[in-house]
Amino acid sequence: MKQASIYDGILQCPSCLGEHLHQKIVSVFFRDSEESLTGKFLRIDEKKVEKTLGDKNPSSRRDGLLIEFWCEECDADPILAIYQRKGYTYIHWHSMRKLVEA
Ligand SMILES: [Zn+2]
Repeated sequence: MKQASIYDGILQCPSCLGEHLHQKIVSVFFRDSEESLTGKFLRIDEKKVEKTLGDKNPSSRRDGLLIEFWCEECDADPILAIYQRKGYTYIHWHSMRKLVEA
């Protein structure tokens, strides 16, 4: 995963370093307990809120969230991951592509 880059408080596109990203979909993953395979997993966009599978959680053992963006300046569809691991919270670009529907 590529480290997220923020300049002057503005998140930059991981592909073109453009500063005009727009959120499309947010997926939130809360495990019932550490390493639990069950929990609350929601996917939210401008049209709906739906339960989703937890297998897209960017954290293998803890909680996490994914924010899918589109960029005004290139055709990247970057996905930002914020997740916990070993007591730390990480922010990385998870992918440049859209998540495949579960
Ligand atoms: Zn871009």
